[in-house]
Amino acid sequence: MKRRAVFIDRDGTISEEVGYVNHPSRYRVFPYSAEAVRLLNGAGWLAILITNQAGVARGYFAESVIADVHGLLASELEIGGGRLDAIYYCPHHPTVGEPPYQLDCDCRKPRPGLIRRAAAAFDIDTAASWMVGDRYGDVEFARNAGVRPAFVLSGYGRGEWEYQRAAWRHEPELVAENLLEAVREILRRDDD
Ligand SMILES: [Mg+2]
Ligand SMILES: [Zn+2]
Repeated sequence: MKRRAVFIDRDGTISEEVGYVNHPSRYRVFPYSAEAVRLLNGAGWLAILITNQAGVARGYFAESVIADVHGLLASELEIGGGRLDAIYYCPHHPTVGEPPYQLDCDCRKPRPGLIRRAAAAFDIDTAASWMVGDRYGDVEFARNAGVRPAFVLSGYGRGEWEYQRAAWRHEPELVAENLLEAVREILRRDDD
């Protein structure tokens, strides 16, 4: 049987939006994120991180910094009993930098490449899965990938929701204060 996933944006959703995380010392996981991931683990949902990291293409940091930051994320989540099933990131930019990172790729959100890759690797039922993010672009990304969009008010979320929503072409299916509230609501709807 196909599995269901909650795809989770990184900056502003599972951790603080601080601009480019060009050193692990700048990285701050939200205090509730481990519980959110733990709830998904316990309910049998895949928890998969999806993030654009164009700072690599822009030359702001090496790709190895992403691995260090994600090691930090994994250990912070582990302390709270949570475990991501996978992490997918796009280090590219369509116009800035040099190859191989300067690339008009299919994996930069809102293009659906990363979710497609994850769906194939884990045999995921995308129509029954969610993408949680703090930018309108994550809503577009969810639609492009055929998953259900959830929007959080952490990170850029509150500003985009209050000041830019009038121009949105598509509405999220769920709006929550933060990742933990979004996960609780996703699991609650699953119980109905
Ligand atoms: Mg974000
Ligand atoms: Zn890419």
